[in-house]
Amino acid sequence: MKEERSAELFAKAQRFMPGGVNSPVRAFRNVGRIPRFIKKAKGARIFDEDGNEYIDYVCSWGPGILGHAFPSVVKAAQEACEDGLTFGAPTEKEVEIAEIISRLVPAMEMMRLVNSGTEAVMSAIRAARGFTKRDKIIKFKGCYHGHSDGLLVKAGSAALTTAVPDSAGVPEGCTKDTLVALYNDEESVENLFKANEGKIAAVIVEPVAANMGVVLPKDGFLKFLRRITEENGALLIFDEVITGFRLSIGGAAEFFGIKPDMITLGKIVGGGMPVGAYGGRRDIMSVVSPLGTVYQAGTLSGNPVATAVGIETLKYLDSHREIYGEIGRKTARLADAYRNAFGNSARVNQIGSLMSVFFTDKDVTDYESTQTSDTKRYARYFSFMLDRGIYLAPSQFEAMFVSAAHTDGDVERTIALATEFASVEAH
Ligand SMILES: *Cc1c(COP(=O)(O)O)cnc(C)c1O
Repeated sequence: MKEERSAELFAKAQRFMPGGVNSPVRAFRNVGRIPRFIKKAKGARIFDEDGNEYIDYVCSWGPGILGHAFPSVVKAAQEACEDGLTFGAPTEKEVEIAEIISRLVPAMEMMRLVNSGTEAVMSAIRAARGFTKRDKIIKFKGCYHGHSDGLLVKAGSAALTTAVPDSAGVPEGCTKDTLVALYNDEESVENLFKANEGKIAAVIVEPVAANMGVVLPKDGFLKFLRRITEENGALLIFDEVITGFRLSIGGAAEFFGIKPDMITLGKIVGGGMPVGAYGGRRDIMSVVSPLGTVYQAGTLSGNPVATAVGIETLKYLDSHREIYGEIGRKTARLADAYRNAFGNSARVNQIGSLMSVFFTDKDVTDYESTQTSDTKRYARYFSFMLDRGIYLAPSQFEAMFVSAAHTDGDVERTIALATEFASVEAH
């Protein structure tokens, strides 16, 4: 498989951008390959600058649930462009998408549109703090909530009581109010509440963790978070940037039947355009300026082209809900076949159209167990598949995304190659 053109572009890109990319995982460093420079995409296929074709399981990290360049979505973008790219003034489309989101995700009685998941989470936390008049938040080790200062933390050494910055350039002052608990570990949350009575504004969680590879919530874990936040006057924030409109049309809140106080959205809500949203109970969102005293703004927030694309994506999903059963069935087929192929040498976590294969013989239920996986074997698996036309996440700790455009044939081809990799490795 040729890669000259990608190699050439990558060399040049590195002169102008750190690592040659605009987001680190794209640089393929974890898998030791040259990143593919993508020229175009259609349906479940992406095409690189060397003319190679791949079945794409990254789907732009989630937004592409309908497949790439979905005709009605492209048309919505084109038509919106004709009428002007941005006005910095209210539009009917913003009202329309807010009404749709609120209907599909009833916990979002009121919301704000922003331009990324990072911005959605950052703003939601500010609103939660403004509303509760408390400073501290609890997040979970291994959950990702974008790259804002206060959330780029790792657990400190002092038995999960304090967080320390997980990136250079983040002052300690920015993370001193972030507490880190363990995903699927109720006791770690209880301990933080006990040690910080009356000080915790919110607990933020990925209802299905999908940024340490896919890790499912244990039975009752989300319900426990709903109860303990309520008992302590803290807010529960579901970061549904990945799960929103993916696990079901109403996201994880609907899927698990739990109503959080606030929800953050990104990825699918923009259908491929840079859109995020945060929202929740009306009384909470009423603290946001100009109604209240929590400031948050955005020059391009609610951008008409991005909003048009989001509207068409959500409308299509809403009127074709059979998609969820279909993508869930295909992903379950992948998961079963992978379990079969890799046996006890791997663990496959799957829910709906999200899946991860971890190369470990231990069950993967939390951050610690994700770290038992053999990342070198993942890199070999990635390379084997890439060279045969399957484009996977270039990291063990990311999800595999299945879209409505993936055919049964695509799935079977993927299974055949993964099975071949497993047997080649075994010999
Ligand atoms: C991707 C992601 C974010 C950040 O969204 P960006 O649009 O990349 O800023 C936040 N939370 C979760 C759960 C995500 O998966």
